[in-house]
Amino acid sequence: MVVVGGGQAGLAAGYHLRRQGLDFAVLDADPAPGGSWQHMWDSLHLFSPPEHSSLPGRLMPVQPGETYPDAGHVVDYLSDYEKRYDLPVQHGTRVDAVRRDGDSLVVEADTGTWRARAVISATGRWSRPFLPAVPGRSVFTGRQLHTVNYRCPADFADQRVIVVGGGNSGAQIAADLALDGNVDVTWVTQRPPRFLADDIDGRALFDVANARRRALEDGRSDTGGVASLGDIVAVPPVRAARDAGLLYAKPMFARLTADGVRWVDGSQSGADAVIWCTGFRPALAHLVPLNLRGPRGHIPTDGTRALSEPRLHLLGYGDWTGPASATLIGVGRPARDAAREIAQLR
Ligand code: FAD
Repeated sequence: MVVVGGGQAGLAAGYHLRRQGLDFAVLDADPAPGGSWQHMWDSLHLFSPPEHSSLPGRLMPVQPGETYPDAGHVVDYLSDYEKRYDLPVQHGTRVDAVRRDGDSLVVEADTGTWRARAVISATGRWSRPFLPAVPGRSVFTGRQLHTVNYRCPADFADQRVIVVGGGNSGAQIAADLALDGNVDVTWVTQRPPRFLADDIDGRALFDVANARRRALEDGRSDTGGVASLGDIVAVPPVRAARDAGLLYAKPMFARLTADGVRWVDGSQSGADAVIWCTGFRPALAHLVPLNLRGPRGHIPTDGTRALSEPRLHLLGYGDWTGPASATLIGVGRPARDAAREIAQLR
């Protein structure tokens, strides 16, 4: 078996493949453990406490002094997890293609080729940032970057920065810049931001996702899930910026100009940088040779199994591969189910 991707989803897959007694390799493009957590911005903290942010088998330890651990703590936890379970992760190995060849799937990477009876793809979304087609994007002469390139406010000292996006990343990066005090930040969103109630963190969201899964499994009506509650978790820095009156959103601008933006009413503002917090797409380019793509760029699945290729499972990515499967606490269950199904292929 081959697992493509060694972030949290790939490690959870490895844990359960091992429990099924299967031989496998985990191929991971990053040179070091931790998946995308090692690339996130400096001030980022989890939206759940450690006991609600754990992979199967091992609780995330508490980070001293922090209710919500930071990204560095998650990297340490994942590095330790990989070692503790002796998971065979080959870092620095990028998979370019997965193809069918008789009874096997052939996995072609930059360091070699593997034949596998089954493949679990767990490549996440971080490596596929999405930028919307906005008029004037190519004429703007300032700096444009995506969430994936943002590190800290010091990189924008004394600059006018426009943050675009009404999700968690947009709110958190706008709050980070606003609380710093040395950046002139404007936050713009396509529709008015929808904050979750202050007492809802990742714990409550996981409970809501579970209640929805149970309702759907029991044939009851859809409870609406997490998206029905709002888009933005009011993590402490977001709450602090909002309560200080520093975090309010303007409606999206009409276009970018050479040195800023033009608003819908025709007025203009100068800007030195635009940070696009406009989301991601699943990183599935290596699966193109299998020709499985369905609507919205997703591959249709039953649970984690690709409908048209039973030897391929998709793990993480989003709710379409299992409720909350793109979270630390939620990926364990679909990883277990995928490993059980793969064990039955024997
Ligand atoms: P990743 O962590 O992206 O790992 C994918 C791995 O696959 C990487 O190591 C990459 O190198 C590798 N890879 C990619 N392509 C290839 C290839 N072709 N060949 C080989 N390897 C490849 N979840 C929570 O539970 N709590 C939170 O508080 C939380 N906060 C979040 C905050 C932000 C800003 C974001 C973006 C997400 C957050 N999430 C949170 C969601 C989720 O937990 C993370 O996105 C998580 O990193 C997803 O894990 P993953 O293993 O699916 O993907």
